[in-house]
Amino acid sequence: MSIQVYECADHGRDEVFLRSSDVPPTRECPCGKIAVHVISAPARIHIDRDWNEKANEAQGHGVYNQAKAQITNMYNETRDREERHDTPAPKVTEEAIQAAAVGLDKEQRTRATRPTPQQKQVAFARKQEKKLKTPV
Ligand SMILES: [Zn+2]
Repeated sequence: MSIQVYECADHGRDEVFLRSSDVPPTRECPCGKIAVHVISAPARIHIDRDWNEKANEAQGHGVYNQAKAQITNMYNETRDREERHDTPAPKVTEEAIQAAAVGLDKEQRTRATRPTPQQKQVAFARKQEKKLKTPV
């Protein structure tokens, strides 16, 4: 058995557990579109993947949708303005969405590396402890 990855144009990547000898080049996505086979990996790799990696991946998908929503909003707002002021609205292009998604992804990753409240508490406790140990 092995993990096969299929990519749907609308939903991104999806993992399927298949017999290694029986891997079709395309597969029907739940949405009805055709998903294309992109990667195959031994089953072990799937198990070894940690939750953090999965979270990043899920966040990655979310970022794309967020970016798409942002760009679409921007387009609609500008279009409304355009009707009044004659400024051309930026088009909703795949390129613009990808670029915005990269920006959002970077932003969210930076946020993810900031200390959690627990980590801050531990750091604070350590500082206090040091203060207590330091003779006045
Ligand atoms: Zn799909």
